Amino acid sequence: MKTVPSFSTKAAPVIIDGKAASQAIVEQVKAAVVAEHLRPGLAVLLVGSDPASAVYVRNKGLRAKECGFHSEQIDLDENTSEGELLAVIGRLNSDENIHGILVQLPLPRHIDAHKVIQAIHPMKDVDGFHYVNVGHLASGALGDALVPCTPLGSLHLIQQHLGNDLSGKHAVVIGRSNIVGKPMASLLLQHNCTVTVLHSRTFEPEKLCRQADIVVAAVGVPGLVKADWIKPGALVIDVGINRIELADGNSRLVGDVAFDEVAPLTSAITPVPGGVGPMTIALLMQNTLSVARRFKKVGLTMR
Ligand code: NAD
Repeated sequence: MKTVPSFSTKAAPVIIDGKAASQAIVEQVKAAVVAEHLRPGLAVLLVGSDPASAVYVRNKGLRAKECGFHSEQIDLDENTSEGELLAVIGRLNSDENIHGILVQLPLPRHIDAHKVIQAIHPMKDVDGFHYVNVGHLASGALGDALVPCTPLGSLHLIQQHLGNDLSGKHAVVIGRSNIVGKPMASLLLQHNCTVTVLHSRTFEPEKLCRQADIVVAAVGVPGLVKADWIKPGALVIDVGINRIELADGNSRLVGDVAFDEVAPLTSAITPVPGGVGPMTIALLMQNTLSVARRFKKVGLTMR
């Protein structure tokens, strides 16, 4: 059995309010749309009827409308072929009312998600998953990149707490997915952090994690990060969203961090829900706005 450190920081930790931070971003986007006479367009494609995906897609559409965007939700049947989906993306690529195209993942197994993502025009790839955008981010061309929304939202919360200059901070990112872990590590590196990436094959992850000033957990394992993983005073960003069943038959959402035992050690921590989750949609709005700005600046029509 592991021992839990008994030390604690003097000040109570800040519980980072992702809802408030995301609303502030949405307000900025709304104001920019009006002030710059823009009509950003966002198309969100849903294939099949996964209930969780349907909720995410609906929320994205609602936010887009709130921001004054042109919003399209395209619902496709579970049995839609890969070719049919690619044809819809092709149409949206050349639709001048659409600036952002997002395909909700996961896709049904008969569709190659990789091929679908690479079919989205890189300039409209507001999820930031196309190789062109991955390359821009990895090579440090942040001005050209569309950066994945969850890491971008996490960085926003980190800078809100620690300030813009993260030079010299040791950041530990737990998880190496293309959607969260890897782009998060690239972003933190770009902001002058010393970055360590932990993953499922890492030996003694708790020892490495204990060196971190900033911990970003993006794993999908409820409560993986325990108190003995944390240096007192660290900032902890919990990206994980895990639904666990309770003894009474109900369920609830928890993160990858054992919040109750970790929070007292930290200088600040994001809760689940209400931390990183709301940021992802807000940054999707910001990414779509930035594409609309680029199109307007150079008079692009994509036809
Ligand atoms: P993923 O399954 O693609 O990747 C998980 C990563 O965790 C892998 O790289 C794996 O190597 C690593 N891992 C697995 N077990 C580990 C262990 N014991 N120790 C260290 N590393 C381990 O998942 P993902 O898409 O990156 O998502 C991660 C979590 O973040 C999930 O809970 C997901 O629901 C959540 N998520 C939240 C948002 C949001 O908006 N807040 C967005 C995307 C993902």
